Amino acid sequence: MAEDTIFGKIIRRELPADIVYEDELVIAFRDINPQAPTHVLVCPKKPIATADHIGEEDEAVMGRALRIAAQVARNEGISGEGYRLIINCREHGGQEVYHLHVHVLGGRPLGRMLGSS
Ligand code: 5GP
Repeated sequence: MAEDTIFGKIIRRELPADIVYEDELVIAFRDINPQAPTHVLVCPKKPIATADHIGEEDEAVMGRALRIAAQVARNEGISGEGYRLIINCREHGGQEVYHLHVHVLGGRPLGRMLGSS
């Protein structure tokens, strides 16, 4: 389990966020520093620290997170043109918040895979 993070506080409504979806397993809210016209984070409510911490018991929640990421993209109107889902893991992955989340990014061409920074 992860240490408490800013996303734990959002899940418990101790911090505000622009929440676009919630169910018993996941929550989705807009990124505070969007990198594209649509930038939503889909976050398991269970505080899994990183992708490296995903266990067999987490298959249902991770499947839900991916399905809801696609649903968010449809609701945002970016499915037709396409979008990118990203899970950053630890330092080299550029992870800042150690509560696993799926970035849903779209609304403009995102280029090839990786930027230079
Ligand atoms: P990571 O780098 O861990 O994959 O992504 C963390 C993301 O969380 C970043 O894109 C960052 O802008 C976003 N973020 C950090 N703090 C907050 C916050 O308090 N509220 C929201 N909505 N997003 C946050």
